[in-house]
Amino acid sequence: MVRLARYRPRPRLRGAPFHEHFDMSGRVPPVKENSALFLDIDGTILDMARTPEAVVVPSELVAALRRLSEDLRGAVAFVSGRSLATIDALFAPLKFAAVGCHGAQVRGHDGAVKALSAPVSDSVRGIFRELAQAHPGVLLEDKIYALALHYRLAPEAKPALEAAMEKHRALFAAERIHIQHGKAVIDARPMGIDKGVGVRALAAQKPFRGRRPLFGGDDTTDLDVFHILPQLGGQGFSVGRKLAGVDHVFPNPRAVRQWLIRLAREGVT
Ligand SMILES: [Mg+2]
Repeated sequence: MVRLARYRPRPRLRGAPFHEHFDMSGRVPPVKENSALFLDIDGTILDMARTPEAVVVPSELVAALRRLSEDLRGAVAFVSGRSLATIDALFAPLKFAAVGCHGAQVRGHDGAVKALSAPVSDSVRGIFRELAQAHPGVLLEDKIYALALHYRLAPEAKPALEAAMEKHRALFAAERIHIQHGKAVIDARPMGIDKGVGVRALAAQKPFRGRRPLFGGDDTTDLDVFHILPQLGGQGFSVGRKLAGVDHVFPNPRAVRQWLIRLAREGVT
């Protein structure tokens, strides 16, 4: 007979499915006194939402990030496709160093903002605007230095949007615009600019310089950072699936938040 009454779940497993605690790819790289944290936002520390504006930023996460930033002397940065203004609005009152618009904007710990590219041209913007208008439910996010077409609300538009990207390929190339397909999103960003370029620029500045970077991301645009991590002496984790060049995989953003909150509570040593 199975003696169920003797079974006691371990406290850390209670209330969450087992797979969320299952180490899918080695241990989470340690965060030490000399670490620097670089974090993608959507799909990494925040759950994806139906629209970019609908994401939820838990107050425990904001508190944990503030504490970690204090412990690491300011060496915590966001790395996102979103603009710096949107990042600040999401995580207010935090105003961390950040890579915005997929690397086109970089803000140091001292608050100085550097644009690594020119704004997206009006001709490219016009194509994206028309596509958003032609397909109800497709949302245009205009970040000045980058554009994004979100089709999470209109997945049926995906083939038409992809066909349009193909159709305008020559124009995008002439305008030095790189088109990237992500999770229910098509991004347009300047060629030669990516999250890796942004992280490299930040990693050369105080207080990141000389620290061991740990980067977390979940999507295709994050591959450019995973790719350069060995050169920076860093390590990486992905979320939801194993991406090339990572040392660990978290099952979902909730698990990443739990890890960050625990790190903040225990303190970095
Ligand atoms: Mg992401």
